[in-house]
Amino acid sequence: MKITPLTANTFASDGGAMFGLVPKGIWQRFCTPDELNLIPQRANAWLIECDDGKKGLLETGCGDPAWFSEKERSHHQLEEKWILPQSLENLGLSVDEIDFIILSHAHWDHAGALMDPDGRPTFPNAEVFLREAEVDCVRSGDPLLYKSYPPKIKETFEKLSDRIFPVPDEDPEMLPGIYLLPAQGHTEGQAGIFFTQTELAGMEDTTAALFTGDNCPSQNHLRMVFQTAYDTYPLKTRAWKQEWFPRCVKDKILLMFTHDPHAYGAWIGADAKKEYVITETYTGNE
Ligand SMILES: [Zn+2]
Repeated sequence: MKITPLTANTFASDGGAMFGLVPKGIWQRFCTPDELNLIPQRANAWLIECDDGKKGLLETGCGDPAWFSEKERSHHQLEEKWILPQSLENLGLSVDEIDFIILSHAHWDHAGALMDPDGRPTFPNAEVFLREAEVDCVRSGDPLLYKSYPPKIKETFEKLSDRIFPVPDEDPEMLPGIYLLPAQGHTEGQAGIFFTQTELAGMEDTTAALFTGDNCPSQNHLRMVFQTAYDTYPLKTRAWKQEWFPRCVKDKILLMFTHDPHAYGAWIGADAKKEYVITETYTGNE
């Protein structure tokens, strides 16, 4: 198996919302906000090429900006175009050739690309995999989650219901060597996607890798309390980091970031003062 990082979208988020409890005086040392307090974000996606020839995507980004309202587009500074199809084309691939899609969770910046603005599946031949608990949350209609899973997302899941495949926790290995494991915190049903061993574009050695979803969206979110204000269960996000980060240090697991605008991933080490620090970043072939 080989994985290759791609950019799906670029956008911007409120810096305060991205760092939750952390005072601006601290987070602005490494993320410079603009005059609207927005910081640059990327929706990162990964092409997965399996040994049997199957091709998939881990994450697909926000999708076509036309899917969003004018207000949403301007609030998030969504660029004119959804970049992912071009990113695939640069590798000689089209959206038709994608056999499967894995999503960490179903927020707009992760599941917004499944359907085009005309209500058609964007990836006509792809089956879509998420943790069962996340699919249940989308379908629950829980009024407390109306911001997390707005009508547009619910409608997408209804229209694509025959191609959405919930992955149960009892059987999390959806393909050989790819696991959708519980990564509660950011959402109840979020998955951390674990690759037991994979080739990595531009690197000689194979590596184990973990896609962190929004429990650790960037290289600036390693510290326990550096977490987004969007997290449904903040303490669970911290517990997840406490469970996984020591393992990432010990087993040299690549952390794959969902929104870092500069690095697709990093290997980390323990640090007495800062808890965890980057030992090496991974920027793909850029
Ligand atoms: Zn996100």
